[in-house]
Amino acid sequence: MKRVGVLALQGAVREHVRMLETLGCQTVLVKHKEQLEGLDGLILPGGESTTMRKLLDRYELLGPIRSLAQKGVPIFGTCAGLILLAKEVVDHDPHLAVMDVVVARNSYGRQVDSFEVNLNIQAIGEAIPAVFIRAPHIVSVGEGVEVLAEHDGKIVLARDGHLLGCSFHPELTTDLRIVKYFVTTMV
Ligand code: GLN
Repeated sequence: MKRVGVLALQGAVREHVRMLETLGCQTVLVKHKEQLEGLDGLILPGGESTTMRKLLDRYELLGPIRSLAQKGVPIFGTCAGLILLAKEVVDHDPHLAVMDVVVARNSYGRQVDSFEVNLNIQAIGEAIPAVFIRAPHIVSVGEGVEVLAEHDGKIVLARDGHLLGCSFHPELTTDLRIVKYFVTTMV
């Protein structure tokens, strides 16, 4: 059984746990660095990246999660989780700074703070529902980073080797395909 952690400081934690369990994974709620030991993969959920950063500092998790990424453990960041992974954040200091992408926060204007679209993702499937909530987008990617999906001319899903990041919340739908892609092809 694959053992997958979900960073459980803030945000859409329970929804990810439910999806992982449906996919047959053993899940670990990560609040302390000891809980990172023995993980086959880790999910950084959506929420608020600046709040999560404060909590990562308070719980002394920033360095340990960065080391995990540097060791090659697969990590999937959704929405705020993508912001945590990015090497560069526009107008902001980066956090874990491990994934070779530049992200911009709150990329969709006020009227469309939240919306849902269906994405066709060649590597994963057609008409995959994606929920965007004050979502970031990927402005540019480094060499070797695979762009998996775009919406409205903006990159919204990319893979940098063992690191996967998306702008939206796959865990807020009932469609398992994106999380399944992470669990079955990367973890
Ligand atoms: N706007 C949030 C941030 O900057 C991300 C929103 C989300 O995770 N739904 O962290």
